[in-house]
Amino acid sequence: MTARHLPQSDPVSPSARQRSPQSHPRSRQEPIGPLTDLPGVGPARARALEQLGVRSLRDLLFLVPLGVRIWGEPRPLGQLVAGPFVRAAGRVVGLRLQRRGRRRSHVRALLEDEAGDRVQAVWFNQPWVAEKLVRGAWAELAGPAREGKEGLQLQGPRIGTEEEPLPEPGTLQPLYPSVEGIHADRIGAWCRELAERHASAVVEPLGDPLLARLDLPALPRALAELHAPSSPAAFEAARRRLALEPLLTVQARLRARGRAGAGRARAARIDRALHEELCGRFPFRFTGGQRAIAGELRRDLCRRVPMRRLLQGDVGSGKTVLALYAAMAIVESDGQVAIMAPTELLAQQHFYGARELLGSVGIEAALITAATPAAERRFQLERLARGELNIVFGTHALFSRDVRFARLDLAIIDEQHRFGVAQREKLLAKGGGAHLLLMTATPIPRTLAQTLYGGLEVSTLRESPPGRGSVRTRYVERGAIKKMSRFLAERLAQGEQVYWVCPRIGEREAAAGAPAAAERRYAQALESSLAPFGVELVHGRLPSEERSARLDRFRRGEVGLLIATTVIEVGVDVPDATVIVIENAERLGLAQLHQLRGRVGRGPRNAYCFLIGAHSARKRFELLERTRDGFEIAERDLALRGMGDLAGIRQAGANLEGLGDPARDLDLVAAAREAVRADPRLATLYADRAG
Ligand code: ADP
Ligand code: MG
Repeated sequence: MTARHLPQSDPVSPSARQRSPQSHPRSRQEPIGPLTDLPGVGPARARALEQLGVRSLRDLLFLVPLGVRIWGEPRPLGQLVAGPFVRAAGRVVGLRLQRRGRRRSHVRALLEDEAGDRVQAVWFNQPWVAEKLVRGAWAELAGPAREGKEGLQLQGPRIGTEEEPLPEPGTLQPLYPSVEGIHADRIGAWCRELAERHASAVVEPLGDPLLARLDLPALPRALAELHAPSSPAAFEAARRRLALEPLLTVQARLRARGRAGAGRARAARIDRALHEELCGRFPFRFTGGQRAIAGELRRDLCRRVPMRRLLQGDVGSGKTVLALYAAMAIVESDGQVAIMAPTELLAQQHFYGARELLGSVGIEAALITAATPAAERRFQLERLARGELNIVFGTHALFSRDVRFARLDLAIIDEQHRFGVAQREKLLAKGGGAHLLLMTATPIPRTLAQTLYGGLEVSTLRESPPGRGSVRTRYVERGAIKKMSRFLAERLAQGEQVYWVCPRIGEREAAAGAPAAAERRYAQALESSLAPFGVELVHGRLPSEERSARLDRFRRGEVGLLIATTVIEVGVDVPDATVIVIENAERLGLAQLHQLRGRVGRGPRNAYCFLIGAHSARKRFELLERTRDGFEIAERDLALRGMGDLAGIRQAGANLEGLGDPARDLDLVAAAREAVRADPRLATLYADRAG
């Protein structure tokens, strides 16, 4: 929620119901027309409003406030405490305007109540405040209060006077976002006016039984309550009704896309014997979970309905192995397979990790990335087009137009949330009715996954392969880095390896040419007691050949300590690495930390993860200290950071603005899916809706 903004010269009354109803005759129409129909709105302001996803008067009517404020009673000044919204009343006993230059000024005021207690207030660059307040007169102030050097201070509060009082205690005020050049109160005033004129004419596409089941008001009432709430509960119900809108659109579009793109796939032939033979090609027995999913893949691939399966499982749970099972099964049926990863590093890792296995059974595979030399690329592309290559590994480079397959039957996309829907569709279009296997190590709750990914089936690998050591996770105080380094030296002396991750601080620092944190740490490490074990540095700005050369040195064990940015987050697989140190851990989400931690504990030896970060984030780290269950962590991350941040959701093309607390609205996600499935009319309506 945003802090209160500075008062305006003409404050907007928060209570719409104070106006006479005649001033806004109700219209029989939904609001139509561009934003520039609003008084005072030209092209520039219209563009500014687009930042809120508002492109039309209708969008503005449907804008969901950030929350609702309940105006309380003014407190005696002696009892005021700092807070985001504090209300104070008293007599103005001090008032001073100071100008600094032509535009800059500040006004300071001192309020005193009957008990003789006082509070200060300050307004920057609002010189008119000095005229609105009158020394010796009664006034009311409301706004954020902070504890400063000279006691509590109200900062830029709104002003109430005898003539123009602040809203009465108990008034509900919806809070709006502000954008460049438009005050939140102004946006709120427009919304209220639109609601008064047009809300009653808005058509509710949802049927009464559905609304009743979800306990939601119909749109006309919801819009009225949203912009002029009669109670907090009514506002919340209205907010939920509006939160349903973008969800309906996403579900309708996913459904439409699913219908349009399906086509027919070629059915692979995988009999029992071949299935067993494929499973037996790996140097270990499948876990129970892997067996079950291999069975699902087998069934899917043998059907003519194109497979659309999402395989989610924690890092190191053995997803790649299943991808190779599927790939080899397709090759046995003379089809081609594309295996795609979001980064060059990961694509290389997949390719080099699988090459030996594939070669041993005579499968032709190649790697194509942006770094592939032109001649080699041309050579491999020709083989691919002629059908001589069975499996191609790569990155986005596989999307380019010159990549042609003789017979693409299966596309596998790893860390799929890093690709957009459009890219995914483009790859599939190359294969007619190709099967699709998506993989992700950022698990999300199953129902949510099914809902968000529309028509996808979801397989989940929960257990890890046997023989893994434990991973201990500990928070480390910044001051204890020295002590930790001694521990690292002990591990290194045992032939174990260490990752040291320094997240990028920010673009601004990079642009200013400041050495990234990783570079600084690298320089320090070269001077430290760890230097004799060999130190290497990798980050995203290195040319990719250089980066893989350095990683290879670490992979081969030639260096013990790898200092890196979060580029190592996905895919790097070095079984001898037993320790990962993560600096500035508070900057990363729980799921991302978990992902990084997955770099260690891949072998039989016990492993350690040290989180160095702000003390304030310590509580957040506790979950990581306690569990390695990626699902639990993902759910927590979801609750903490909100749905908009969750990997893989943006790609659904959703405008998730105003979706609110996902935990609160999770039932709506399922409801939207059901509604669209049950009612084709709704599906068409929402799929066609612009926005
Ligand atoms: P993911 O792709 O889910 O991160 P991988 O498929 O890369 O996991 O597997 C991680 C590691 O575990 C690899 O070294 C792989 O060879 C090994 N592995 C996978 N499945 C098994 C299994 N059933 N038994 C033993 N090791 C396995
Ligand atoms: Mg993997």
